[in-house]
Amino acid sequence: MNEPQLNIEKGEVRKGLVKCAELEDGNPVTIPYFVMRGVKKKPVLLLNAALHGDETYGIGGKKRLFEKIDPMKLNGTILAAPIVNTLAFKARDRMDPVDKKDLNRLFPGKKDGTVTERIAYHFFNKFVKKATFGIDLHTGMKGHLLVPHPRVRVFDNSSPPLEYPQALGTEIIFYHEGKKGMLNIQAEKIGIPIVCFEIGEAGRLDEYYINEGFKGVTNFMKYFGMIDGTPEMPEKQILLKDYMEIPAKMGGFFHPKVNAGDVIKKNQVVGIISSPFYNERYYVKALEDGVIIGIRTQPIVRPGTTVAWFMTFDQGKILPSLKRRKVVEKSSRTFSMVQKKGVEFKQ
Ligand SMILES: [Zn+2]
Repeated sequence: MNEPQLNIEKGEVRKGLVKCAELEDGNPVTIPYFVMRGVKKKPVLLLNAALHGDETYGIGGKKRLFEKIDPMKLNGTILAAPIVNTLAFKARDRMDPVDKKDLNRLFPGKKDGTVTERIAYHFFNKFVKKATFGIDLHTGMKGHLLVPHPRVRVFDNSSPPLEYPQALGTEIIFYHEGKKGMLNIQAEKIGIPIVCFEIGEAGRLDEYYINEGFKGVTNFMKYFGMIDGTPEMPEKQILLKDYMEIPAKMGGFFHPKVNAGDVIKKNQVVGIISSPFYNERYYVKALEDGVIIGIRTQPIVRPGTTVAWFMTFDQGKILPSLKRRKVVEKSSRTFSMVQKKGVEFKQ
């Protein structure tokens, strides 16, 4: 059967491939997966990464999870697809270079469509539909380092529940308008909550961000009772809406002066752009108080290149604490920076 088998023995781990299409050279396009069955069958947690082929943190995090979790201590089943878009992954690119279609705009896919549309179809019908809930791991694009945060997407006035993104235990939760065909939007329509979890930057595998991803996923599993332990939550979780991009005013080399996750004041220097030929410098400053959610890590910029992604607290909201389980509260770095810097937080 060309789909993941979840009816396996207690404690069993199985791997396999789901065939989606055939290429011009006769080679199959597949989605590789692992299933880990715990002492109970349900819930089924879908963990997937690399819908965009160059987004690698989720791949590293899943490997660690399978090494660390004892299936005889797992309540439920993990269905993991570490590399959904294998063609884009092999090309080290966001999208398959022949198809040039963004897989995360194509769900629920087309059975007889292009290769990427077929991958969407098989993934949606054979993985997503088997899940109780899921975590879809992403990263910033190449050169865009993002602070770990889930993205809650609204579409057609939907109101996705916040319990699932909150269960990851990040300080910032990003709420914005989604686009048709995105995995979490289409899955929500059929009643399966999937959290889009953004971490770090494409094409990299730094230990810190792998750990942040691992922490988020294990928090989620602890919160929903899949593994023992108390999830670690920040004292305050902040919901923020819409981001702004700060563009470079001149070309040259960008030297960041803040990190992703830093709370900054209006006029604070975000970074310096220096010209390669003259002794010219340009100071990139924040136009308002807010938080840097992403920063450019590749130094070469042109006028108009985005050097930072920024959110204000104008439409911010401190979320009520999660109720389902006891949690360990950790101090909130973001909120203490808000207070230390005297940034106004309008609720
Ligand atoms: Zn992505």
